[in-house]
Amino acid sequence: MDSGIFESRTRGNIGAQGASGYLTIDLGALRRNYAKLSSTLAPSRAAAVVKADAYGLGASQVSRALYVQGCRLFFVAHFIEAVRLRPHLPKDVQVFVLNGLQPGNEIACAEGGLIPVINSLEQLRRWAAAAKTVKRTLPAVLQFDTGMSRLGIPPEERTELAASLREHGNVEILFIMSHLASADELDGEQNNEQLAEMTRIADEFAGFDVCFANSGGIFLGDAFHGVLARPGIALYGGAPTSGVENPMEPVVRLDVAVIQTRTVPAGARIGYGGAHVATKETRLATIAAGYADGLPRSLSDRGAVYYGDVRLPIVGRVSMDSIIVDISALPEGTLKLGSLVEVLGPHQTLEDVARDAGTISYEILTGLGNRYHRQYR
Ligand SMILES: *Cc1c(COP(=O)(O)O)cnc(C)c1O
Repeated sequence: MDSGIFESRTRGNIGAQGASGYLTIDLGALRRNYAKLSSTLAPSRAAAVVKADAYGLGASQVSRALYVQGCRLFFVAHFIEAVRLRPHLPKDVQVFVLNGLQPGNEIACAEGGLIPVINSLEQLRRWAAAAKTVKRTLPAVLQFDTGMSRLGIPPEERTELAASLREHGNVEILFIMSHLASADELDGEQNNEQLAEMTRIADEFAGFDVCFANSGGIFLGDAFHGVLARPGIALYGGAPTSGVENPMEPVVRLDVAVIQTRTVPAGARIGYGGAHVATKETRLATIAAGYADGLPRSLSDRGAVYYGDVRLPIVGRVSMDSIIVDISALPEGTLKLGSLVEVLGPHQTLEDVARDAGTISYEILTGLGNRYHRQYR
């Protein structure tokens, strides 16, 4: 990464001067990803999953950008996320709470115009009771468990559910949904099993629209599309499918500042626990992000950052607020205090960092902390 970018980034933006790191979120790329998923899905539609603060990228900014691109349906996980997001969006959107209807939230949920994803008979009954209290019909989504054993109505409750739906006419079911457990696997056997189960459910509850696919599911073919899909990670540039080229455009770039450089002799201990010992004279830079900034401790002595095309390996343990990298591959004096190195960007994808850290892109993305200077493009 060249100093020109650093200068253009900070010039005229006092708030950005001297930040320890720059998290750049490309809302244009986000919108193009939404458009791409929408055209893959057509004539089915795409909602957007903006839980966990839009996977760490800012739920209000992300949702408003997607609204401009035509998105009108937004899913969050927790009730509190829906409460916080709703005021940022125009009236003609629907905000759904994936984790269900918690006891005590019913009236607030109804009055806030939020739509619960009903995950059990008990939740359906409480939502119907709330509808009675507020004296109007309340909208809901029904989630079925098709083989993940996490959320949703289990198979043995389906008969009773059908009766319960007839009884609670004051709950309007907008659509039915389920979630795939292995959607990132193109030839995953579980995908077809879950599709078969969802097809049975759609027959049993005929007349309801089906919402099924997450990001990976969109790329499993038309059979998985239903009427509405719920992509998350693919919107944010993460790979929807494992083991094939990522069709999505990167949305996130992370550059972190150098806060110290030094040369150490052979035998020098590097970082906590002296876990890394220099085998020869080594030039080091300390950069201003650590595990509190979402760079997992499992990156200790694994993975790298980049300066231009040059790979700078992480040496020693990841600290809370900093990481030490070996900069011997760069000409002396290249990196100075405030120089920026690339953690995520053209040389290193989310998947690269996730692989080095032994985790998945989702965890890296949602973990990026709030100590970076955030800039939206
Ligand atoms: C998180 C989540 C999604 C989005 O999944 P991605 O793999 O990020 O596309 C969709 N549906 C449900 C129920 C979820 O929990």
